[in-house]
Amino acid sequence: MISEFDLIARYFTRAQPGHPQVVLGIGDDCALLNPTPGMVLAISSDMLVEGRHFLPDADPKKLGHKSLAVNLSDLAAMGARPLGFTLALSLPQPDQTWLAGFADGLFALADAHDCALIGGDTTKGPLNICITIFGEIPPGQALRRDAALAGDDIWVSGTLGDARLALAGLRQEVALDPAEQAAAAARLDTPSPRVALGLALRGVAHAAIDISDGLSGDLGHILQRSGCGALVKLDALPPGPVLARQPQALQREFALSGGDDYELCFTAAVTQRAAVLAAAQAAGITVTRIGSIEPAAGLRLVDASGAALDLQFSSFDHFTSP
Ligand code: ADP
Ligand code: MG
Repeated sequence: MISEFDLIARYFTRAQPGHPQVVLGIGDDCALLNPTPGMVLAISSDMLVEGRHFLPDADPKKLGHKSLAVNLSDLAAMGARPLGFTLALSLPQPDQTWLAGFADGLFALADAHDCALIGGDTTKGPLNICITIFGEIPPGQALRRDAALAGDDIWVSGTLGDARLALAGLRQEVALDPAEQAAAAARLDTPSPRVALGLALRGVAHAAIDISDGLSGDLGHILQRSGCGALVKLDALPPGPVLARQPQALQREFALSGGDDYELCFTAAVTQRAAVLAAAQAAGITVTRIGSIEPAAGLRLVDASGAALDLQFSSFDHFTSP
C-alpha cells in the first residue's frame, strides 16, 4: 500500500514552472505565496463531502474538476485573479486509480486557470475534499455582495437550471433520454467557473455572487447585504438548452431555484449596459438582463406581461432542505 508521503509526491507534487506567484510550493511546513505588490488577497474555502455533495461512485476525474471549480467560482464572483490553492483530503484508503483520476481532473482545470496547488493535508477518513483558494484583486475593486444600488440592472451569465435538471433525471423525477441526461450532467459534474467574466466586470459591475444554491436564494444574499429588493422577470431567465425542452413550470422552477449552475449573478448601473456586454464578449460568455434592483426589500417576480407571480421556491440549505 502506498504511504502518505509517496501519495503526496506521486499524485500532487509537480514541477511548477510558470507560476512566479509561488515562492515555495508543496514540501515544507508552509507554502510561500507572493501576491502582486499592492493587491488585496481574496481567500475562500469549499468542502465537498461524499454522500452530501456527490455520490460514492462519482467519477474521480469529474470530482477533481468540480472540487476546484466551485472554489474558482468564488474567486470569479469577487472579480479576483487566481493565484494558488491548498487541498485537504480525507480518504478511506489510498486507491491509486481514484487518486490518478482525481489529480487529472484537478490539474487540468488548475492549469487552465494558471492556479497552482501549493500545499494541503492528507489523512485517512471518510472521503472529504476541502480546497482553500487564494486570489488577488486591486484594492476597492472587489465585486461585493453589499454593493448593489437601487436602479441597477440584474444580470446572469450563461444559462440556468440544467445542473438541477440532471439531478432530477438521476433521481428519475423527470424522464430524460440518454443524450439529454449526458448534456445536463456535464453542467452538474464539470461546471465552468466564470473567472474571465469576473475579471472583466471589475470596475463595471457593482455586486456579484456565484449561483451555487439557486438564483432566488443567491440573489437574495445580495439583496439582504445591500439593503434593497428586486424585480425579476421570470420569463427572461435563460434556461439551459436541455431544460428549454421541458414544460414551462419546470423551466421556471429550475432556472429560478435549481442549484449548482456556477453562473454569476451581478448588478450594474443602467449606464454600464454596453460595458457589461463588452465584458461578456471579451470573456466569451453570454449575459442576460433579468430585472432590476429596487429600494423596497423583497424579491418580486413578474411574468412576460408584467403581472406579479406568487411563486415560492426555496433555495438549497444544508440544514433545512430535505
Ligand atoms: P505537516 O506535517 O507540516 O502538516 P504534511 O506532512 O501534512 O505537513 O505535508 C507535507 C507537505 O505536503 C506539506 O507541504 C503539505 O502542504 C503537502 N501536502 C500534504 N497533503 C497534500 C495534498 N493533499 N495536496 C497537496 N499538498 C499536500
Ligand atoms: Mg499536515
